[in-house]
Amino acid sequence: MSYIDAENLVKQYGAGEATITAVGGVDLGIDKGEFVAIMGESGSGKSTLLSMLGGLNSPTSGRFLVDGVDVYALTSDERADFRRRSVGFVFQNFHLLPYLTLAENVMLPLAIVKMGKQQKLAAAIDALARVGLPDKATRLPNQISGGEQERVAIARAIVNHPRVILADEPTGNLDTHTGSEIMKLLTTLNHEGITVIMVTHSNEYARYARRLIRLSDGRVADEETKLQCSQSRRVNADRTQKRRKKSRKKVRL
Ligand code: ADP
Ligand code: MG
Repeated sequence: MSYIDAENLVKQYGAGEATITAVGGVDLGIDKGEFVAIMGESGSGKSTLLSMLGGLNSPTSGRFLVDGVDVYALTSDERADFRRRSVGFVFQNFHLLPYLTLAENVMLPLAIVKMGKQQKLAAAIDALARVGLPDKATRLPNQISGGEQERVAIARAIVNHPRVILADEPTGNLDTHTGSEIMKLLTTLNHEGITVIMVTHSNEYARYARRLIRLSDGRVADEETKLQCSQSRRVNADRTQKRRKKSRKKVRL
């Protein structure tokens, strides 16, 4: 049994003739420390599947277990507690509240945690530092760039030290350079031991993951696992590029 186990997960919306089957029977096992990318066309069920894996969306049928716990058999209070302890969710389009400072946005998942205000603030500033924004805690979301907003969304996801990060198209609105920076950040968090499950439209970003799951019409259409660690390959590629640049420089000199 894997750390995360989806057993024939089905999610239907609506009723009668208008029923839409967003996820039509997904079996999935994900181990601790994996970095998984989920791809598929728009409407193929990626966001629905991710929200079920995050304990946010009850399946119509099937079971979902984390560490042997049947998440949707829990009461809603217990499930909220499970989410708070285990999961960090990076929503599509950042979902930052515009009238709250970055630190206040990052503190949101701690709202119902029994901790002093100062302790929560310290945790938020620590999370902002981990995503490379140690000095911007008092800014408002509209005072930072899109890439920085994505970092804040990730800081908010890690403020409770989750075991799993679920990210829905974390690079969807970013230029290629900023997107790569976000992928490197997710890779670093993965190397620190956090399991990362990410939805992406981009083949380029999917390469950061070691496992790729393709959805089609709410079902797993295809799966690939990389034998070689994608990060080490990427580091090697970066090195090669640097060497090439260096040798180009030498030629110019
Ligand atoms: P993706 O993220 O791959 O674009 P979604 O999971 O958002 O796909 O959607 C899968 C299908 O379920 C789509 O047909 C979508 O319109 C439908 N759907 C998603 N969420 C809802 C909802 N809350 N109510 C009704 N239909 C929904
Ligand atoms: Mg989606």
